Amino acid sequence: MDNKKHHNKIKMVNNKKYFNTPLDENGKPYWIPIVVKNKDFLLGFIEAYNVASASFGIPIEDMELLLSSDRLNDVLMDGTRIGNITRAELKSKLKKFIYKPDKDENHPDNSAKILDEQILMIDCPNCGMFYSFKEEEDIPKKDTYCVTCGRAIIIYTNRTDNFFHYDGKQMDMEKVINEIHKEADEE
Ligand SMILES: [Zn+2]
Repeated sequence: MDNKKHHNKIKMVNNKKYFNTPLDENGKPYWIPIVVKNKDFLLGFIEAYNVASASFGIPIEDMELLLSSDRLNDVLMDGTRIGNITRAELKSKLKKFIYKPDKDENHPDNSAKILDEQILMIDCPNCGMFYSFKEEEDIPKKDTYCVTCGRAIIIYTNRTDNFFHYDGKQMDMEKVINEIHKEADEE
């Protein structure tokens, strides 16, 4: 397992700075639900998102999609790196993420009432352990690891995103996602 307390956030390769993602038990980088500068940034984001969500009807559950480690690298939720697969493979993978059965409806903890009362919720992508935070002070100040499986669920980089080079292969994600939606409409 990772050396939790001394996790180095920056990886230098050829004089470029990358986010140094923690590694799983097989030494492979994994997807992390929340990777942001610090707690203040996270709270600011949550506040702004709530305003947007109330104004434009954006589902609050989608918030974590904007905070995850894939802003900084090409590691997908299932651990696959975009650089290691073809565009067609990526498309079929994303299709499964997008059209997976609605987990929120089946999740015992995710009744609408509970969702309303929380400011942040995280499902551990590895073991499914559910974390929810009700008040600003409940949100951890430090990097946080799943109590069940030990994987990182919140990492604070102490840097803005611009500090890091993107690690991996960049794919025209939006285009791929639009194609998936279009094909689904046509089916
Ligand atoms: Zn876990």
